[in-house]
Amino acid sequence: MRDQLAKLVQDRAGGEPVCLFAYDLDLLTEHVRTVVESLPPRCRMFYAMKANSADRLLRALAPLVAGFEVASGGELDKARAIGETTPVIFGGPAKTPAEIEQALTQNVTRLHVESVLELHRISEIATRIGRTAEVLLRVNLAGPFPSATLAMAGRPTQFGISEAALPEAVAAVATLPGVRLVGFHLHSLSNNLSATAHLELLDHYRRTVSAWEQEFGVRCEVLNVGGGIGVNYADLADQFDWVHFARELPAVIDEFPGHWAEIDFECGRYLVAECGQYAVEVLDVKRNHGVDYALVRGGTHQFRLPVSWQHSHPFTVLPVEQWSLSATRPELRDARITVVGELCTPKDVLARDAVVARVRAGDVLVFSHAGAYGWEISHHDFLSHPHPEHLFYGDAA
Ligand SMILES: *Cc1c(COP(=O)(O)O)cnc(C)c1O
Repeated sequence: MRDQLAKLVQDRAGGEPVCLFAYDLDLLTEHVRTVVESLPPRCRMFYAMKANSADRLLRALAPLVAGFEVASGGELDKARAIGETTPVIFGGPAKTPAEIEQALTQNVTRLHVESVLELHRISEIATRIGRTAEVLLRVNLAGPFPSATLAMAGRPTQFGISEAALPEAVAAVATLPGVRLVGFHLHSLSNNLSATAHLELLDHYRRTVSAWEQEFGVRCEVLNVGGGIGVNYADLADQFDWVHFARELPAVIDEFPGHWAEIDFECGRYLVAECGQYAVEVLDVKRNHGVDYALVRGGTHQFRLPVSWQHSHPFTVLPVEQWSLSATRPELRDARITVVGELCTPKDVLARDAVVARVRAGDVLVFSHAGAYGWEISHHDFLSHPHPEHLFYGDAA
């Protein structure tokens, strides 16, 4: 895709400034196929579409994954546009009655329940329309968590049912009509880079859920272990060791044969981040208060990920030779630059103190690993600039 992007950038030189997301669907399908094929039996990989719900991505992913994890009626619509029978699991912290009814009438496989009140809502709606909803209770674990995961897990959040309220929730499912308890859902961390820590976390889940089965006299048929496998934006060469993770996974999950007929993963970032790039043209290069800035067409209203995670996003410079202005072309060599966008706010920063061999006005910066939580989470219309293009490359495009 890099070559195609380079060609496109050359062809466009002198025209409207480049500003686009480019997706390599071949890279996407190859990565996801490798991940899915390496999972042990009983494990299924769902795609959490909030990371990126572009129709073309979903179409490329649908034949490879077990189904989609959705967290709104809108995401369910997108899943159903891909396939009437594609398996869908439905989560989300604040579901409306209308969304619950939509989920049930559109035959979602399971609902992930976030509170006792939500259980009552689901029961009421399922009974009224003559369905039985299969549910997982999403539990917000009290901890303590394995030390390796401490930086990311175990902080208070609005998600799930507190462990203290779990007895009440289990008792409610047992008595309410229209709902059947199928298992538990645990999603405790985000962007975890350590395969060892992830295995420790799953081992912690195993022990916790086994204890609940004993305590409540229930049988967990499906355990959903969430997403949260990370992408190392700071060092692209040092990524989550999936091969190690997949190799060690059976030892963690096989200890209790007969339990947990199905173990669901619902990953977003790890599946789609790498296939996306965000390419933006440098409009100006200048120095203020001792800092060198590259100002680009685009910015955090299109790619909010770096500000949202407070990181400096990795990019490379795609040189563009054409320069048609009579004014001298500004250029920096062996510099540390801060890359900012077109918004009138100092927070519009994509990268800080990034070392570049050379950058000039008119060059294009290509931000890599921009496929997850990039465009999706951004405030597109702040300042009413035109939206970027979205290009899809590869056989699946
Ligand atoms: C966001 C989310 C995911 C996906 O998280 P990633 O970090 O992108 O893998 C999975 N499950 C739930 C409940 C989520 O909210």
